[in-house]
Amino acid sequence: MENQTKKNNVFISEEEKTLSWEDVQSSFQKTFGSEIYNSWLQKISLVKEYNDYLILSVPTRFFRDWIVSRYLDKILEQLKGFKQSLNRIEFKIVEETRANQEFEKLHEINKVSEIKDSIINYNRLNSNLNFDNFIKGKSNDIALSYSQKVCDELSRYNPFYICGGVGLGKTHLLNAIGLKLQNENNVMYISAERFMYHFIKSIKKNDMVNFKDFFRKSSVFIIDDIQFISGKESLQEEFFHTFNSLMEKGSQIIISADRSPMKLDRVQDRIKSRLSGGLVVDIDVPEYDLKVKIIRKKLEEIQNQFQENINLNDDVINYIASESKTSIRELIGILNRVIAFSRVHKKNLTILDCKNILKDIFNQIRVITVDKIQNVVSNYFNISLSEMLSERRSRPLARPRQIAMYLAKKMTSRSLPEIGRRFANRDHTTVIHAVKTITRLSEQDDEMKRNISQIKSLLLEQ
Ligand code: ADP
Ligand code: MG
Repeated sequence: MENQTKKNNVFISEEEKTLSWEDVQSSFQKTFGSEIYNSWLQKISLVKEYNDYLILSVPTRFFRDWIVSRYLDKILEQLKGFKQSLNRIEFKIVEETRANQEFEKLHEINKVSEIKDSIINYNRLNSNLNFDNFIKGKSNDIALSYSQKVCDELSRYNPFYICGGVGLGKTHLLNAIGLKLQNENNVMYISAERFMYHFIKSIKKNDMVNFKDFFRKSSVFIIDDIQFISGKESLQEEFFHTFNSLMEKGSQIIISADRSPMKLDRVQDRIKSRLSGGLVVDIDVPEYDLKVKIIRKKLEEIQNQFQENINLNDDVINYIASESKTSIRELIGILNRVIAFSRVHKKNLTILDCKNILKDIFNQIRVITVDKIQNVVSNYFNISLSEMLSERRSRPLARPRQIAMYLAKKMTSRSLPEIGRRFANRDHTTVIHAVKTITRLSEQDDEMKRNISQIKSLLLEQ
């Protein structure tokens, strides 16, 4: 009897482990920061909870697509922290209540200053990302020297376009340019994602006039990660007009993206050709020497800032430089871990110590699940998860789907039928076909090769 109760208790407590939505929300706020939280995550509510999935409500279709394409994997990861058994989220669109609309109306009176404030708030440049601490190497030499030239001779290279993979220093350079020019010019710095956010907000508030004015009056317009406009027609339309009117009045435009203009996916041709009309420079993956220089510089910074001597001998530095593969962001991440370890253990590290630390890091990041692959891939191609899993066969959906299946086969230990099931119950032969197709394409096609390698590094980075 006693046993039985115990059993039941255990059973019940497992089963009834329900979510406190309040706790979830406050953890969202911590992880994502108040800006993203207030604009997006706060508006999600819990509709129904099942053992392995949740139904959440969002106010609009756009809202759902946005959340799914930007934050879904992180949200799911967070939720799993509260309830391990969750593996999926469904969204339900529940129109905003009247009360909400009334509330917005009331606030419309202040809308002009509101928009201005929120844009200005976001327009802040990060003073830590300047030219002085940007280290020059073979892989970024051209991008760096032209970034400096652009500052000296405004409008000569227009637009100025920097491209390169994730974590290679694009945002750092854009910031450095903005900082250098901000005293003498009206500098506007914004990410394409943020541009979109204000665009949508202005449409909703019926306030496009202000939006247009605001962006068109800058004399230096810097926009980060322009690849984000992919597939978003009305945003492209608006961007095109902003771009033209800025060019017309001779403003300097500076843009970054993860690829060259002509390779931008699902972007209007006229935009691509405008973007390639000035100077395009690219940043390559860092070479060994640059990585060593960056490590030394970072150590020096820590030494100066904290008056703390961190002893990493040359062997260790060289080892870290040769082991980090994908980006400078990754390199700095690894270095921080190594430094943290040496602080705790207060000893001079050996290569063996480093090997162990790196093994830990790589083990940690290598927990790659089918879910994660699906999220990263759909995010990468700017399609929603449900589109990727759907029956539709158009190429912009079918290719990402096949790539995700291919990566699931290559990067997880799941069997073919298991993978098929995770892709809306497809047959294992479909998975085989996908693996074959993508294997072939990634051997023949440079674009595909690059996509696969970037997605892999995104997966390993997170
Ligand atoms: P991206 O925008 O291309 O994804 P970031 O500009 O955010 O990359 O760079 C990632 C990190 O690496 C940042 O912390 C940045 O300061 C640092 N970083 C990149 N390139 C350099 C460099 N050449 N010298 C010093 N730090 C760099
Ligand atoms: Mg960036």
